[in-house]
Amino acid sequence: MPKSSRLVIFPGSFDPLTLGHLDIVTRAAGFFDQVEIAIGINESKKSLLEPEERKQVIEEVTKRLKNVTVATFSGLVAEYAVSRKAHALVRGLRQAGDFDYEARMAHANLSLAEGLETIFIAASPEYSSISSTIVRDIYRWGGDVSAFVPAQVNDVLNRRRTGTR
Ligand code: ADP
Repeated sequence: MPKSSRLVIFPGSFDPLTLGHLDIVTRAAGFFDQVEIAIGINESKKSLLEPEERKQVIEEVTKRLKNVTVATFSGLVAEYAVSRKAHALVRGLRQAGDFDYEARMAHANLSLAEGLETIFIAASPEYSSISSTIVRDIYRWGGDVSAFVPAQVNDVLNRRRTGTR
């Protein structure tokens, strides 16, 4: 990456990546030099997909976006972003509820890492009701999640359900 390039980090759980996440990363990739999707590893939280599985499928989904990379990290987002020399964090905003939480996170990250801005991208209306939590719930009850996730994520989930992974 050239020295002047601006790297932004899009942190999250991405368990699993949804069409809403993909929309945010695609739009971010349109106006930043380099976007890194950083999958936070939280051992104490029961996850649907392992971090490495998430990373692999996200790499597949974002292959065509040449300035997007995928990584995993553990610990504080602010410390990770500083270690990566990132210029900012990117987060998506869906409803008013997101704002309360996201504003508090942005303030915490600013006090942990001076100058670490958080840039918010408003969810597209067609994706603003999608969340990984809803996808996990539908999946666990045996429902079809193909309207909410990229095809490759749907395939991983289906293979997992039929035990062919
Ligand atoms: P976290 O567990 O850190 O909230 P998520 O994986 O749920 O991580 O979300 C990562 C980011 O993506 C958050 O900023 C969240 O608001 C945003 N996001 C999640 N779903 C959508 C969506 N449907 N549209 C736009 N942004 C979204």
